[in-house]
Amino acid sequence: MTELTKTLCPYCGVGCGLEVLPPAQPGKATNRDSQGNPIWQVRGDRTHPSSLGKVCVKGATIAEAIDKNRLKYPMIRETLDQPFRRATWDEAYNLIVNRIQTVRHTMGADAICMYGSGQFQTEDYYIAQKLIKGCLGTNNFDANSRLCMSSAVSGYIKSFGSDGPPCCYDDLEKTDCAFLIGTNTAECHPIVFNRLRVHHKKNRQVKMIVVDPRRTQTAEAADLHLAIRPGTDIDLLNGIANLLMRWGFIDSLFIDECTKGFPDYMQVIQSYPPELVARTCGIRLDDIEQAARWWGESQRVLSMWSMGINQSSEGTAKVRTLINLHLMTGNIGKPGAGPFSLTGQPNAMGGREAGGLAHILPGYRVVTNPQHRREVEQFWELEPGQISDQVGLNAWEMITGLETGKVGLLWVAATNPAVSMPDLERTKAALMRSPFTIYQDAYYPTETAEYAHILLPAAQWGEKTGTMTNSERVVTLCQAFRQPLGEAKADWEIFAEVGRRLGFPKPFNFANSAQVYQEFVRLTRNRPCDLSGLSHHRLMVSGPIQWPCPETETEINRTPKRLYTDLRFNTPDGRAQFAAYYSKGLAEPPDPDYPLVLTTGRLYGHWHTQTRTGRIEKIRKMHPTPFMEIHPKDAQKLGIESGNLVQVRSRRGKAYFPAQITKAIAPGTVFVPMHWGALWGDNTEANAMTHPECCPESKQPELKACAVQLSIVNPE
Ligand code: SF4
Repeated sequence: MTELTKTLCPYCGVGCGLEVLPPAQPGKATNRDSQGNPIWQVRGDRTHPSSLGKVCVKGATIAEAIDKNRLKYPMIRETLDQPFRRATWDEAYNLIVNRIQTVRHTMGADAICMYGSGQFQTEDYYIAQKLIKGCLGTNNFDANSRLCMSSAVSGYIKSFGSDGPPCCYDDLEKTDCAFLIGTNTAECHPIVFNRLRVHHKKNRQVKMIVVDPRRTQTAEAADLHLAIRPGTDIDLLNGIANLLMRWGFIDSLFIDECTKGFPDYMQVIQSYPPELVARTCGIRLDDIEQAARWWGESQRVLSMWSMGINQSSEGTAKVRTLINLHLMTGNIGKPGAGPFSLTGQPNAMGGREAGGLAHILPGYRVVTNPQHRREVEQFWELEPGQISDQVGLNAWEMITGLETGKVGLLWVAATNPAVSMPDLERTKAALMRSPFTIYQDAYYPTETAEYAHILLPAAQWGEKTGTMTNSERVVTLCQAFRQPLGEAKADWEIFAEVGRRLGFPKPFNFANSAQVYQEFVRLTRNRPCDLSGLSHHRLMVSGPIQWPCPETETEINRTPKRLYTDLRFNTPDGRAQFAAYYSKGLAEPPDPDYPLVLTTGRLYGHWHTQTRTGRIEKIRKMHPTPFMEIHPKDAQKLGIESGNLVQVRSRRGKAYFPAQITKAIAPGTVFVPMHWGALWGDNTEANAMTHPECCPESKQPELKACAVQLSIVNPE
């Protein structure tokens, strides 16, 4: 291939457009990596509406990772203590089909689990749903998005009647006040943040408030940084609401006509006088008042959040408490305003559209709704009742299901749970007990491959054509620009072949991913995420398109599409629902034995568990080793000096990090990055310490905080 190919960055949910060219261009020097190997040329796509040609270091260096550490052939072993041997696809498929049939007959379909990924393209997600939820009849499909944004999904559904971030990136340039809570946007969603930063710099009246226990790069750029104690988000938000109420900054007309539940909410916020909130959160009263004043005086408030809110045992409550502020001030459905969750993975949004979590079905349907199940059954030509009415096992329940023997087969695809799950020692012990684990990924070795009986090579970015949806609901066609390496195949092709061999030829009779997408979008017709006007062909000809895009939209509409501009929500009566939550705080607060709070997070250059970024020299130089941030007061109390190797221990496990003493972290809290797994050695796994306590509504674990103690190793 010699032509330019348009695609999407496969890292984060910002969804930046990329253009890819072959390594050698006529008349130009061949593009090479740092070792001198020819590599594809990647640059930002100026025509992409979400990123306008910008990319961060991850997108700019992605080409270097294409051929590194690739899994090229199926591999099989009988037991985990044996080495893998190369196998044919035929042998691998036969083994998988045989094991699925055996588990189905001996343990039932609910003993089969698939754990997928926001790295999937939507076509991969869709075929996986058809296989697991449709043909096998269990809802045991969950994705690593469970660890990432399921609280946002749950919050949107409960407050607005359906999922879907209502905002657009255009709002970043229209807002009067940006309220960022639990998100280090500057490092984790850098291109989104750049748009906001430019708007903020250009317009002195625009305010930026950042709520985060760390003084991150995002906080550095803010007009006001509220360094609250971990776990006090709901206190702060209810305290701001208390002041908005007290000062009369509420939109009574909007509340009366477009919402319900306000009286109960009012009662709750009476319990959050700002003086008390300041003490609880560990910040100044003046700062809370300033935040409330800026919110109240602004015509257009845009809030943004990510893991700091979602990864919590009260994640849904936090999301909904934030949404409450928008509802009480009418800050939704207009340019520059609204609650905007930033997705972590490149296609977590596509996963939501395709039903890629254990409680949902394609087209923003839910498995517990009989009408929704029937609609999908009819569309898939299944018998009534073939889709289970039970919510499937979520990510953590799959781990506990292995512990109890409830899970007989685990199929993991495009994710690395042996690094990313909480309570790693327990997670790994459970994976060791798995009777049969299929691991399907583009990369090898990974930490999770150590626990697999069979490895399936998946085509990766650039080797398969499909769609992805970014945080602002823009769908991009990601076109293949090269053949899959070795014998790798697209994830959807693997699922479809297993489906056919299990005896379901018709549901998986697709010649290519365009046909898969064509079928999928029909299932979204007249649903909140209506994609029925989209096709691979249309996306190729017209470029990325934002949904909703019903089939009646025959002309390309480039106007940013916000949800709820008519102020009607997707609830039965069209009203948004206020939520009345009291703060519960951390699931594991500090105590005399474990007196500090550990918080974990991402770094600018690395992506998740480093399967790609760990192989890119520029990024490795940028972030060569993990570290632990500690405030000078805590360091002094414990006699820790900069660079000391420190053991960080929780009730579940321990890891070791060199200390970085900095006032960027609040006293009483320490921070470590989450990117390092066992493959990198040196016991630096952040999730060795974290706990699996989940939000009762979203089932998202509280990966963001746990109680730890510190001790110095080899003091000088
Ligand atoms: Fe890729 Fe996200 Fe960076 Fe954009 S901001 S280039 S999508 S990692």
